[in-house]
Formats: sequence, structure tokens, C-alpha cells
Amino acid sequence: MKLILLGPPAAGKGTQAEGIAERYSLAHISTGDMLRAEIALKTPLGIRAKTLIDEGNLVPDEIINAMVANRIMQQDCVNGFLLDGYPRTIAQAEALSELADIDAVIDIEVPGEIIIRRVASRRVCPKCGHTQSVHEGEEEICEKCGAALIQRADDTEEKMRHRLDVYHESTEPLIRYYFERDLIVPVDGARTIAEVSEQIFGILDEKQEAKTDE
Ligand code: AMP
Repeated sequence: MKLILLGPPAAGKGTQAEGIAERYSLAHISTGDMLRAEIALKTPLGIRAKTLIDEGNLVPDEIINAMVANRIMQQDCVNGFLLDGYPRTIAQAEALSELADIDAVIDIEVPGEIIIRRVASRRVCPKCGHTQSVHEGEEEICEKCGAALIQRADDTEEKMRHRLDVYHESTEPLIRYYFERDLIVPVDGARTIAEVSEQIFGILDEKQEAKTDE
């Protein structure tokens, strides 16, 4: 299967992507993670992207499109892939349509107030990249590898409000774009992680069966 995970920032795309990729043996392609890796390596692309990301703005379409085009040609994508955080603009969706036939677009819907509340407790592991929620009084240690967690520079309330504006303006039109192509699968992302996974797996199990019967 070739899937897209759509939804506002902090909707839980990364968390759900891990579970989906594992269950259906798909390559997990997160453009945000790829860009953060470039930043960590201080590549020319990383240096250019850092300011844009830290301000909550999008990286130019041509850069992202080239990055994804390269990535989906790799061997681990032969059995399918899951795009997490891509496409984020109509121009990116148009570029993707030249490269792959997408089977479904999972749209994780979460109201803005919940996103703002979630981001205050969102932390990321600088060592293994795992994202988790921490609550008052809890130790800020990665549950996967034990490293000390940090807050992403673009995860403050002010930056998140801006990222939500960018989402509404540039990314939300993709819901209509994919709805018109009969690919949108809406999911209620305000529920617990396990409940959201259950909704998604139910839908994808059916899709996979239908694809096997083809
Ligand atoms: P994410 O980890 O998906 O929240 O992405 C973090 C940041 O990386 C975004 O706020 C953008 O600045 C940048 N980014 C990630 N994916 C894309 C994309 N498809 N198009 C443009 N910018 C992106």
C-alpha cells in the first residue's frame, strides 16, 4: 500500500505512522525527520531549512519534492510506503501524483485548541527521535532509550499557532483535493492513541484485503 498521513501539526501523525508502518510492513517516510537529520548533519540543505522550520514556515516545494522523489525510489519502498508530513501543499501533491498511485489518505482530524494543549507536553528524544507526552511531575526521560527529552524549537505555543495558520492556508486544501479523488479516510484524532490506531487499522485492513483480491 502507498499511504499518506494528513493532519495538523501535533495531530499524532508520527506516533500513528510508527504503528501503521510496522503492521503493514511499509517504509515510514517523515519529511520532518529527514529535514531534522539534515540539520543535525549541518548539510547546506539543513542549514537552509533550520531557520524556516524554527519559525514554523514550510520548506520550499522544489526541495521537498526532490527529497521525497529520491527517497521513494529506494529499495525499502518497493512493498509500499507511508508518507508522514508530505504532501503539505497542492504543488507537492501534484508532484507526487507523477511518481506514485496513492491508495488512501488518512486524515487525522484534531481541533486547534486540543493541538495547543498537546504541544505544551510534547517532548522529543534527541537520541532516537521518539516523541512522547510528559505530564507535570513526570521525569522527562525517553521511554524507548532512556535519554533526556527536549522540546522542539518549533513546539512553543506561539510557533504552534503560526504552524496552525500555515496548515489551514497551505495544507488543509489537500483534504478537498484528495476527497475529489475519492482517497480521503477521515479519522477522529482527538481520541486516545490506541483508539485512533484501532480506527486506522480497521480501515486499512479492509483496504489491504480488497487490494489482495484485485
Ligand atoms: P513535522 O515534523 O512534520 O511537523 O515537520 C516539521 C517542519 O519541517 C515543518 O513545520 C516544516 O517547516 C518542515 N516540513 C516538513 N515536511 C514538509 C513539507 N512536506 N513541506 C514543507 N515543509 C516541510
